[in-house]
Amino acid sequence: MHTLFHSSVYDDTRPVESYWEAGAPPPPDGLRPLEAEESCDVAVIGGGYTGLSAALHLARDHGVDVRVLEAGHIGWGASGRNGGFCCLPASKLSIQAMIARYGLDETKRFYAAQLDGIDLVRALGEDEGIDYGRRGDGNLTVAHGPGRFRELEEEAEALTRLFGIETTLYGRDQFAEVGYDSSEQFGALHTAAGFALDPLKFAVGLGRAAQRRGAVLHPHSRVLDWQRAQGRHRLVTAGGSLAARRVVVATNGFTREGLHPAFDGRVLPALSNIVTTRPLTGDELAAQKWRTENPICNTRQLLFYYRLLPDRSFLFGARGDTTGRPEDGARMKAWIVRRLGAVFPHWRDVTISHFWRGLVCFTRDLTPAVGRLEDDPGVWYAYGYHANGVNTAPWTGRALARLVVGAESEESALPAVMAGPARRFPFAALRPWYLRGAWLYYRMTDDLR
Ligand SMILES: Cc1cc2nc3c(=O)[nH]c(=O)nc-3n(C[C@H](O)[C@H](O)[C@H](O)COP(=O)(O)OP(=O)(O)OC[C@H]3O[C@@H](n4cnc5c(N)ncnc54)[C@H](O)[C@@H]3O)c2cc1C
Repeated sequence: MHTLFHSSVYDDTRPVESYWEAGAPPPPDGLRPLEAEESCDVAVIGGGYTGLSAALHLARDHGVDVRVLEAGHIGWGASGRNGGFCCLPASKLSIQAMIARYGLDETKRFYAAQLDGIDLVRALGEDEGIDYGRRGDGNLTVAHGPGRFRELEEEAEALTRLFGIETTLYGRDQFAEVGYDSSEQFGALHTAAGFALDPLKFAVGLGRAAQRRGAVLHPHSRVLDWQRAQGRHRLVTAGGSLAARRVVVATNGFTREGLHPAFDGRVLPALSNIVTTRPLTGDELAAQKWRTENPICNTRQLLFYYRLLPDRSFLFGARGDTTGRPEDGARMKAWIVRRLGAVFPHWRDVTISHFWRGLVCFTRDLTPAVGRLEDDPGVWYAYGYHANGVNTAPWTGRALARLVVGAESEESALPAVMAGPARRFPFAALRPWYLRGAWLYYRMTDDLR
């Protein structure tokens, strides 16, 4: 199996060193790596939101004998280290482009599923007793240039008219009173859907819930080989093997080429970076007129995403490099700290407490891909959330559980927008170059403010 980025990006023996890890809840009790020849009905590969939600719903709602094989600790991948924005949408298609490709009804179905995903996160917290530190009452998008407010007006109009989502627009001065002020703030859109959370607490909480409901979780159990024996799948790890009648692939951006030929060349992982500052003082917050707990993205294609954390540390995220080499990561860290200081000049010299990065997952279609393999019908999958998996991955995990037990058909469970597989990339080995080209193009167009 091989990887698109430098091996250090996939090294699950190293700590993630995120802000979230520093306050991590204890892992579920009594977990152990796979250490023998074992078997189950459904094996899930990947212990992030997709895999854990699939396992939780399979065990809780359908009484299935299910196990999860995770290469690192539970939530080691994107799920335990993201920005914690529970928001929408999990696609890079504009609303108009989505309607042109899938029609209005399927676009509405997709947005309804996205809202359902937000409700599911809320319900999982309540039903399974997961305290994931919910904050805020929606999501904000900020115009990063004077010419960008018009985009927000169009988006607000479409979100409300087509999908019934409540929105509020703020001009620059108005937003400076309720949100913040900055040289890259030219008005904002509040979408009354979603909230902020602690992603690792949510991942570990999902793991605990899945375990309590009967799923067996094996951390530090990377699937190294996928064999067939007597009509069953046999997933081989360093310590043992797991025979299963059915398999759910939930490896998303961390999918390695060669895990199963059906996934080769279909995902486009990309690095996303985050820095956090030390807790800001009241005076420092006042200097930027910071007043909101809602998570914020700006209108850049290569967007900046940021939020104030419960202890008043500030989280600032942006795209990463395209190699994954540690030295390029260090350069990106310096760049992102400079950008933080440019957008929020009063916080320019504030100490950075943490820097980390991880893989988000794009597809050629710019939409998620969920379904069952046509040529290997004992295998189901979900991937490609376009850096918007906090609400989407738990939702696709539940959808996969229903598909695996046959409680729903793909047509009834999935909006056409999400029905997989994603098309393969042509000349798939060139994917890092595609990313480089896209980043360059976006960098140029983003600066047309
Ligand atoms: C820095 C960053 C910031 C982000 N911010 C946000 C945000 O604010 N809001 C939002 O909605 N989304 C965000 N995302 C995206 C979001 O985190 C993901 O879409 C989501 O977590 C995907 O969940 P998942 O379970 O499908 O994949 P992951 O959480 O990535 O889990 C996949 C797991 O598969 C495991 N794995 C891979 N191969 C194997 C194997 N062979 N054997 C066993 N295990 C294997 C990996 O170790 C990994 O833990 C962000 C992502 C990153 C990296």
